[in-house]
Amino acid sequence: MTTPTQLNHNLFAALRAAFPTDLDATAIETETGALYSWRDLERATAMLANLLGSLEIPPGSRVAVHVEKSVEALLLYLATLRAGFVYLPLNTAYQEAELDYFIGNAEPAVVVCAGKNFPWISKLAFGKGVAHVFTLNEDRSGTLLDRAAHFADTQTPAIKAADDLAAILYTSGTTGRSKGAMLSHGNLLSNAQVLKDYWDWQPGDVLIHALPIFHVHGLFVASHGALLNGSKMLWLSKFDPKAVVERLPRASVFMGVPTLYVRLLQEAGLTREACANMRLFISGSAPLLIETFRDWQERSGHTILERYGMSETIMLTSNPCRASDGEPTPQRLGGTVGPALPGVGVRVVDDADRSLPAGEIGNVQVRGPNVFGGYWRMPEKTAEEFTTDADGQRWFKTGDVGRLDRHGQGSAARDYLSIVGRSKDLIITGGYNVYPAEIEGYLNDMPGVAESAVVGVPHPDFGEGVIAVIVPKPGATLEAEALVGALKAKIANYKVPKRAFVVSELPRNAMGKVQKNLLRDGHRELFTR
Ligand code: AMP
Repeated sequence: MTTPTQLNHNLFAALRAAFPTDLDATAIETETGALYSWRDLERATAMLANLLGSLEIPPGSRVAVHVEKSVEALLLYLATLRAGFVYLPLNTAYQEAELDYFIGNAEPAVVVCAGKNFPWISKLAFGKGVAHVFTLNEDRSGTLLDRAAHFADTQTPAIKAADDLAAILYTSGTTGRSKGAMLSHGNLLSNAQVLKDYWDWQPGDVLIHALPIFHVHGLFVASHGALLNGSKMLWLSKFDPKAVVERLPRASVFMGVPTLYVRLLQEAGLTREACANMRLFISGSAPLLIETFRDWQERSGHTILERYGMSETIMLTSNPCRASDGEPTPQRLGGTVGPALPGVGVRVVDDADRSLPAGEIGNVQVRGPNVFGGYWRMPEKTAEEFTTDADGQRWFKTGDVGRLDRHGQGSAARDYLSIVGRSKDLIITGGYNVYPAEIEGYLNDMPGVAESAVVGVPHPDFGEGVIAVIVPKPGATLEAEALVGALKAKIANYKVPKRAFVVSELPRNAMGKVQKNLLRDGHRELFTR
């Protein structure tokens, strides 16, 4: 007989079912030595879910969260799922103009922010009709936990269908308009289950969690991985290379963006002995340089597993983990992001959506149970980003440009994807996405600015560094530093150009388009010289 719980596709219920039988075992250990047992996770998420439930907000209400990384912020995410609401994480680097847009667009019922930001965020939120604004600080203080403390520590997870919305992740829009990628309970759970198997999670695995939790990598891939395996997490609220190296002997899995690997390589303590207990190093969110891949092999004795995914799709491809998934060829190939994950379809097509043969470069399109349903309240944009093939299959256009190459023999042969560029003009700096059009919009609005072009150039630490090239209005005198300073007050620091140049004109082609490639070439060695 089928019981109601078996019919419940609530992601929280699946994660909860994977908790170990010993609920007193440690689930999370923080850098200050605070220990959270599995029972603490169970009880705290129940109390928070009961608080959210008491607000009498409709199912599917958004809970927007703009707080620093903390275990309590993770508990709030889990409680939101548990109560059947939709989690909306916001990077704390986002400033007023960005929050104004997100709150206006998502219309959350609840906003949670740091106490220090309460004056301006609550004003903005109440002004837009948000009924509930709570505070949550890094030291566990704030009205959210104060209020939750009065609620019962048991709760039955809300019943959810697989395609019910679980989270909205805002991506930076190419035109400066961010799009909210709508991810369902089914998207998130199916991907987490595939990764649990494909990455061969073992009983006793311990994860070093050093990534932010407002993004797909840290919130979903890392947290779900550990939770679905009942694995302990060594939690770092901020990435600190020394703290990671110190924890390696007690851990077995680490996930990072390429910048983190570059920083770790600068640590003398990163040795083969320190990594002897480690099973798996995973990299993604931006291209891993082949030098980093090789230096890591040399220093740690481990081969980084590179994978590829995005907010709209969670994980899509991954280099193999188990020997049996790659033999008899070399399994993890540097410079590639590996074959499609089980159940995921990946194809490379030309501009007319015709599949290209192996080895040819084209647009990367994907499908699978992990692919999002669409952009929040943007049906036209959603329709533009999907295409249907002759068999009626719906493919999502990733905006990435890549190539599939066959490696291996016989039944072990696999098509490995390499990402060669981005059809959208995205810059990835330190693992964060920056869309030039958004920054150009802010610069062009400044007094005395006629036009501007923002590009990414190679940067030894961040992968790409953002730079701006600015043209003054006739008769105006501009100071590059002053413009950058003014931007700092408006937008997240990672988006602010590291260098700016004032020039008399931008290079353009015959069609009048700015030739960004010439700007990139001209400043190619700016940070690497
Ligand atoms: P986000 O939605 O912030 O996760 O950004 C997704 C984008 O990051 C993708 O569309 C790719 O352009 C890029 N990306 C993610 N993983 C990789 C990777 N391993 N190699 C190259 N680019 C990647």
